[in-house]
Amino acid sequence: MTDLERIRHSAAHVLATALLKIWPEAQLAAGPPVETGFYYDIDLPHRISPADFERIEAEMKTVVKANQPFVRSVVPREEAIKLGENGRLAALSDRAFPSKYKLDILSRIPEGEEISLYTNGHFVDLCAGPHVMRTGNVGAFKLTHVSSTYYLGDEKNSQLQRLYGTAFKNKTEMEAYFTMLEEAKKRDHRKLGKELQLFTFDEDVGPGLPLWLPKGAILIEEIEKLAKETELAAGYQRVRTPHIAREKLYQTSGHLPYYAESMFPPMCLQESEGGEKVTYYLKAMNCPHHHKLFDAIPRSYRELPIRFAEYGTCYRYEQSGELLGLMRVRSMQMNDAHIYCTADQFAQEFRAVNEMYLKYFKIFGIEKYQMRFSTHDPSKLGQKFVDEPELWKKTEDMVRNVLIESGINYVEVPNEAAFYGPKIDVQVWSIIGREFTLATNQVDFAVPRRFGLEYTTSENSKETPLCIHRAPLGTHERFIGFLIEHFAGHFPVWLAPEQVRLLTVTEAQNDYALRLERELKEKVVRVALDDSRDKLGAKIRLAELAKVPYILTVGERESSSEHVSVRSRKLTAPEAKPWPDFFHQLLEEIARRSL
Ligand SMILES: [Zn+2]
Ligand SMILES: [Zn+2]
Repeated sequence: MTDLERIRHSAAHVLATALLKIWPEAQLAAGPPVETGFYYDIDLPHRISPADFERIEAEMKTVVKANQPFVRSVVPREEAIKLGENGRLAALSDRAFPSKYKLDILSRIPEGEEISLYTNGHFVDLCAGPHVMRTGNVGAFKLTHVSSTYYLGDEKNSQLQRLYGTAFKNKTEMEAYFTMLEEAKKRDHRKLGKELQLFTFDEDVGPGLPLWLPKGAILIEEIEKLAKETELAAGYQRVRTPHIAREKLYQTSGHLPYYAESMFPPMCLQESEGGEKVTYYLKAMNCPHHHKLFDAIPRSYRELPIRFAEYGTCYRYEQSGELLGLMRVRSMQMNDAHIYCTADQFAQEFRAVNEMYLKYFKIFGIEKYQMRFSTHDPSKLGQKFVDEPELWKKTEDMVRNVLIESGINYVEVPNEAAFYGPKIDVQVWSIIGREFTLATNQVDFAVPRRFGLEYTTSENSKETPLCIHRAPLGTHERFIGFLIEHFAGHFPVWLAPEQVRLLTVTEAQNDYALRLERELKEKVVRVALDDSRDKLGAKIRLAELAKVPYILTVGERESSSEHVSVRSRKLTAPEAKPWPDFFHQLLEEIARRSL
């Protein structure tokens, strides 16, 4: 957990304490930190509404003021069960009824795992922690909204109220956050995506399946062009794989059965008469297909590292309640690649991946970023993490060293690695300071073995390669959603769907404008000509609404002197420029992918 998550999770305990003071009969389920703050799931006959927030916050304030220490204690399972039966878990005192959700959570803790309680004041909770030292360390907090949910997300279970809040180190940081949210609303990618005609959703196509309009398709193609050039220069090879595969592939990869819930339901078909039924799945990840490409040809150490890249389309069955514009979708195109290398090559490869990130950050003007390095917990080897203690140590050390050496801003988060290796989540902040998780990189030392991948070493023996999964630009959907907010729809000229709009003042300039349009098109500049009879002011307004980076007006003066009058967000007032100068500067700006 990061420091902020620790504050937020602790705030959830403060919230629980306050709730129980008001409603001692409340039954609490889980209260984790989330991206925007924290929540607690509550079973309570009273329907909590925003009208209750002030009262709850006032109680929370007294808990924070009391500055109670969070005290951790490890107890035997029987003792925890006893407390639960007495209603004492997630409560301020014994109660006449058992703490049923906590008892259920308790029953899900594997035998042999430590059971810990956290106490602040009279409030005792079953919790793995960690927490801040004292309730007073929850510097600033606010309840934000309440929704309904089912226990464990399952409709068959009882319905709960999910009360959300957010918390920060101090008041200044919290205020900055709410100001940022206001600005984010104006830049909402769903709103701007519609206004700028970038993408749409359609009921008949299905929720979470974005359709890209021509202007959105240009964004995608420009980003892919950038990725392909960058990857080619970095020694990647492009591959292509189908969107479906047989069940067997995902059993080998381990996606089935564990990941089945996140996959679209299978397609069962009979491939030959009288033959057995065969099951296919839509792919949720590109890795298994790439592993098969590695395996298609005998590999020698001389070929390594092998870097397979593909903007692969994946399908994931997100719950419909969790779909959100482009941020959570069911079909996604991923800036994916898998690097197969020897242990000796790992550090160099991993460093190169990081450099690629930094290069992209520069191009897109991303000034604040953080890599979140998730490592394993040695006590959970063989359960949560593949049982390869030496490989864990070796790869984690390698990753950590590269991160330190390259001076990259990172935090280390224990116990959150993927099953088969350490993981690096890349978080970026948009220009207005909102955080996005863009991409996840993974080091994988287990799955290549499951696939039986190997290469011949210089000593003629067989060895399994390490695999790095990386996707610096994440998915088109999420990345473009981020970029829309980041630029507020004012894309840099190289990326803008429409780069130049030409406006004529009167019909007399039509020939001149047509000539400029032709010259621009010859250089593949995306230009539109507005030679309508509307008033110039109206034409300018339309072009500005479409957020075209360069708006060129040509009147009598411009056409007779080979000039254009340039409007751009970078200029405070329109500027007259000789046409050849503007044209030259524009082409250079596009070629350099300037911001
Ligand atoms: Zn806790
Ligand atoms: Zn992968």
